[in-house]
Amino acid sequence: MIDLHMHTVFSDGASQPEELVAACAAQNLEAIAVTDHDTTESLIHIQKAADNTGLRIIPGIEINTVWHYNGNHKEVHILGYFIDPNGDLLQEIIKKHQASRVVQLSEMAEKIRDKARIKLTFEDILAHSGQGTIGRPHVAKAIVEKGGAPSISDAFSRYLNPAASTYVRRQTAPPHEAVEAIYESGGIAVIAHPGEMEGIEILTKELMEYGLGGLEAYHKSHSPGVIEFHCSLAEELGLIVTGGTDFHGTGEAYAKALERVHMPPYVYEELQAEYTRRQKSMFKAS
Ligand code: AMP
Ligand code: ZN
Ligand code: FE
Ligand code: FE
Repeated sequence: MIDLHMHTVFSDGASQPEELVAACAAQNLEAIAVTDHDTTESLIHIQKAADNTGLRIIPGIEINTVWHYNGNHKEVHILGYFIDPNGDLLQEIIKKHQASRVVQLSEMAEKIRDKARIKLTFEDILAHSGQGTIGRPHVAKAIVEKGGAPSISDAFSRYLNPAASTYVRRQTAPPHEAVEAIYESGGIAVIAHPGEMEGIEILTKELMEYGLGGLEAYHKSHSPGVIEFHCSLAEELGLIVTGGTDFHGTGEAYAKALERVHMPPYVYEELQAEYTRRQKSMFKAS
């Protein structure tokens, strides 16, 4: 078994890299990819923790982008596998996204202070993100802590979703730039949790022109029908499918999360085959 989608404290997950690797090793997984949002900082810790466990680490990332389609802004997450964390375009996007997250969330903290009368400072948010990629989940935790909402999901629906008056948009790369950056670093780009997203076929075809390699058909939010839809679309377009738990929790909750995602073994075989194929074509080109 493999798991190609999970998060640590280096973004909005709750596990330390060592804790996550231990939880995966305890499940006898063959390979994992940790895919922290807009950062590659966890990868070195993950690899170190996995040395001597027999667990194979595929270097990964999840880049949060926004797609402009039909007059709307749609959040699209792009996963990268077998990336070189030092890729130039990749690091360029990461730096841009890190900076724009800080701008967005400090402006949102100000609005939440002014409009919702919650005494929330940027430092309160930082206390939850630590050194990792800062994000709305950290704001949600800080709001709950200040008594501004009874739960994380409540904080999202009151203050943090795009329809809220306290929401501020952030500058992000469009999805094709994330795909291009992953491709340039030698990685395989995959659209994360495509779900029942409107325009997915158009987006997929557009991103294939930049080197898109697959669709994340297997995800905890996907019904059997949605999984089937993306497997068929991928097959029709010559893409691979991937999947994972999208785990954000602490170690002891991992086994349950893994039970919820049923990925057939061919997923790992096709991912490896695609990686080998790309390496060969790069070798030929150079
Ligand atoms: P950000 O990185 O700031 O764009 O925040 C995105 C993250 O927030 C996602 O990866 C989810 O983990 C989390 N998220 C988004 N919407 C909700 C929600 N309604 N309730 C809880 N978590 C959410
Ligand atoms: Zn997340
Ligand atoms: Fe995501
Ligand atoms: Fe994720």
